[in-house]
Amino acid sequence: MLSCVVVGGGPGGLGPILWAAQHGLLPSWLDRGVAVIERQAFLGGTLGRFGIHSDSLGGSYLECLEASGLPPALQPLRNEPVAREMALYRDNFPPLALVDRYMRRIGVALAGMLAERSALHLCTEARGIRLRPNGSVDVEITGPDGREGILQARSVVVALGGRQRWLHGELRPGLTLADCHMREVMPSDRALSTVGLKEADRLLAGAGRRPILILGGSHSAYSVAGAFLGLAGAERLAKGQIVILQRREPRIFYPDQKAALDDRYDVELGDICPRTQRVNRMGGLRGFGREMWRQVTCRPRTTSEPRVVTLDMQCLTAGELSTMIEEAALVVPCFGYRAAMLPVFDHEGARLTLNAELGGVAVGERSRLLLSDGTCLDNLFGIGLGTGYKLPASMGGEPNFNGQANSLWLYHNDIGEIIYRAIQELAAGPAAAIAA
Ligand SMILES: Cc1cc2nc3c(=O)[nH]c(=O)nc-3n(C[C@H](O)[C@H](O)[C@H](O)COP(=O)(O)OP(=O)(O)OC[C@H]3O[C@@H](n4cnc5c(N)ncnc54)[C@H](O)[C@@H]3O)c2cc1C
Repeated sequence: MLSCVVVGGGPGGLGPILWAAQHGLLPSWLDRGVAVIERQAFLGGTLGRFGIHSDSLGGSYLECLEASGLPPALQPLRNEPVAREMALYRDNFPPLALVDRYMRRIGVALAGMLAERSALHLCTEARGIRLRPNGSVDVEITGPDGREGILQARSVVVALGGRQRWLHGELRPGLTLADCHMREVMPSDRALSTVGLKEADRLLAGAGRRPILILGGSHSAYSVAGAFLGLAGAERLAKGQIVILQRREPRIFYPDQKAALDDRYDVELGDICPRTQRVNRMGGLRGFGREMWRQVTCRPRTTSEPRVVTLDMQCLTAGELSTMIEEAALVVPCFGYRAAMLPVFDHEGARLTLNAELGGVAVGERSRLLLSDGTCLDNLFGIGLGTGYKLPASMGGEPNFNGQANSLWLYHNDIGEIIYRAIQELAAGPAAAIAA
């Protein structure tokens, strides 16, 4: 029986594997049986579809290759052209297209190790998960030739990326976007993609005096505003024509409290990460989205951007809100992500209700999949976009943070480690003895 099946070969799914690689533990884990299932023909994920820059520094992506425990098979990557290109962005924000090429190159190297010592299933779709009476788990798959199969393991890591739910969420009691007649709507996932930006360019150029309405006040919202302003179609937009409609002011990242005060940003004690002293380390806007916010709010040493304004959604009545939505040339809902899931069945074939399927956080303690009744499944883990793992205090982060930590660095470090260790404990525990 396999030690673990990882479903989804993006940056999240590769997280525990890359953590083990950095600490010299990967070869022995692979020898105990790790299978990765990925529907695409490669490992590395889906970031390449976005036409914007990363909001993490290039240095954070390089760290995983710099670790001393890295297996010999991965060490040559450090000097390859894609890593050298990433190094040019060590203290800057690389395009996501480069992050994608970099992750795919790591994916190729890991795929080689998996294929040689363990198991890799590319172009393979995972369909569902069944818990077995002996404590192991079956993952049902459909392979590239359409044939169905089952992989049995002691534990499963679910890392299928995120989904956006924007049509039916309530903006106000009784008011959803599904109730509004919108001229054009493009959720942020599409708006930030290369294809979506082209479409937005055309819509902005033809917007006339109609507003461009961005709903939401977090990373995606400010990234969308920044990306739109870079389009030729935005050149003729009037003052205040892009409206960010937010429920609350976003939190902003600063390397330390002094940098925040220099930027005239008020800091509460709870905004400071005790481990790093950074301000809003987990939840703060970073990169180009942060610069957008600085421009919109006229921070020192920046050029103000009059085409974008922010409005407090709470100040509008439901009627005013739906009128604004219906008059806009383009509406861009930026409501974040929820983790995609697979159906999970118990050993009698009954479908279990996952908390993520009801729109809640996907994981609980040690990043284990959470059921709707609040209990966690022992040997099913979730990682990646939208999972909503609540970081324990030992990992740092600002006490005021209560959002999602969606970060490649965290997947490849702290969260990857949590899951790796929990899997090893399971393998050494009583279920292992029964199954052996
Ligand atoms: C616009 C945007 C910008 C971001 N920028 C950053 C950033 O700068 N820095 C940062 O740290 N994080 C960033 N993130 C957050 C997050 O770290 C990334 O989204 C990251 O790529 C998430 O990785 P993932 O593995 O969860 O998802 P994905 O990269 O989407 O990988 C999921 C994988 O699962 C596969 N899959 C799905 N379903 C199945 C199935 N049934 N069977 C088999 N395979 C399946 C998919 O093919 C895919 O390869 C950003 C997110 C977004 C949306």
